[in-house]
Amino acid sequence: TAFSVARRGGVSFAVFDLDLDHFSDVNDSLGDPAGDRLLCEAARRLQRSLRETDIVARLGGDEFAVLQSGVREPADAGILAARLHQSLAMPFDQDGMRMHLTASIGIACFHAGLGAASDMLAQADLALHRAKDEGRDRYCFHSGAFDAIVHERQTLSEELHTALEQHQFEVHYQPQTRQPNHGIVGLEALIRWQHPRRGWLLPGAFLPVAERNGTAPEIGRWMLETVCRQLAAWNAAGLRPVTMALNLSAAQFRSDAGFVAEIMQTLGSHGLPPALLELEIDEATLAEIARDHAADLRRLGGLGPRLVFDGFEMGQFALTHIGAYGFVRLKIARRQVEEAALDRAGAAILRAVIALARALHIEVSAAGVETAAELAVLIESGCTVAQGYHICPPLPAGQIERLLRFGTIAPGEMARADNV
Ligand code: C2E
Ligand code: CA
Repeated sequence: TAFSVARRGGVSFAVFDLDLDHFSDVNDSLGDPAGDRLLCEAARRLQRSLRETDIVARLGGDEFAVLQSGVREPADAGILAARLHQSLAMPFDQDGMRMHLTASIGIACFHAGLGAASDMLAQADLALHRAKDEGRDRYCFHSGAFDAIVHERQTLSEELHTALEQHQFEVHYQPQTRQPNHGIVGLEALIRWQHPRRGWLLPGAFLPVAERNGTAPEIGRWMLETVCRQLAAWNAAGLRPVTMALNLSAAQFRSDAGFVAEIMQTLGSHGLPPALLELEIDEATLAEIARDHAADLRRLGGLGPRLVFDGFEMGQFALTHIGAYGFVRLKIARRQVEEAALDRAGAAILRAVIALARALHIEVSAAGVETAAELAVLIESGCTVAQGYHICPPLPAGQIERLLRFGTIAPGEMARADNV
């Protein structure tokens, strides 16, 4: 069933073939009844490491199969494999004797090229043999390439834990200008990681890992503090105040009931008017927090920070819905901007979105403006605030400060792709 669901594009899954290492030796020395008890205890521990939607089955002897569902990427299977290993790591107590068990695991992840469910079992079995050949007490994926990817993710995950204290993050700021005067009205703060081995990393390469390994809230806190401090310093230096946009992640809402208070406190400690802070939330994040944290979101909007619905695309979300959460602005996604410049239908859709937003008293800005033609169609449609490589890429604070002193950026003047 899992196989046909995944093949229809549904939830993906992984199959594990797990073998307890040297179990026959254990059986020989303890005798069969004690060996059976040990096996039952091992099975219980494996079972407890799984979620409700996962299934474990004994294939016979000391071999188990696990079906893990909801696998978004191979790393998810790697995480479960590590958990299974850990569940066996505590010594087993057998009639006063302490026994240690380890396991070899072969993993096959669903992929579109598979013909039948049995292919996956065969692949998991092959991977199990590789795990045994490589010295047991480990897990292997059915393809060596997966091993490398998963290993890299795990290393990155570990490195994320120390990146903050080692001051490896930096914020770049991308200006938003208002036409026709090109005045800088806002900045979007975007995180970058100066990785010791891999050089500059963009958020797409590490934020999804941070979301899952628990470091996202801490990184979010650092971003909030850093951008507030920076904005206060620019204000103190007499630069014209601009809004500062910060992207929020679902993990920040989930981790801490005091999240709203923390934002307000940070703003207060830097003497910043809350309305200077724009909090950008995209559709995926909203979907994740809508059920449990909608009240926090509305409260946040009511306290002064401006909520911006990030990456708006037609047909994605009802506009009236957006207003109900307290969003005061929507930021049109790059794709919608691109389509508006492509043909008359695209331009008509853009005009309709802008008119509808205006009728609902929701402001509109646009992201990812890459060409003069795109900017022109936005202005014609009534969207005057824009951001994108055509206007200015994200830049380090020092360069932004020079731009802020000048106050305007003529489109095309700073145009180039991201410098990271
Ligand atoms: P986003 O919110 O959509 O941010 C805009 C992204 O588009 C940035 O990528 C920016 O460099 C890029 N961009 C700017 N102008 C253009 C353009 O003209 N064309 C194109 N194609 N792209 C353009 P970046 O910095 O890699 O950020 C990616 C995403 O990571 C952001 O998407 C945002 O969702 C997330 N992100 C960045 N910083 C943070 C953060 O501090 N916290 C959280 N939670 N998310 C962040
Ligand atoms: Ca954004």
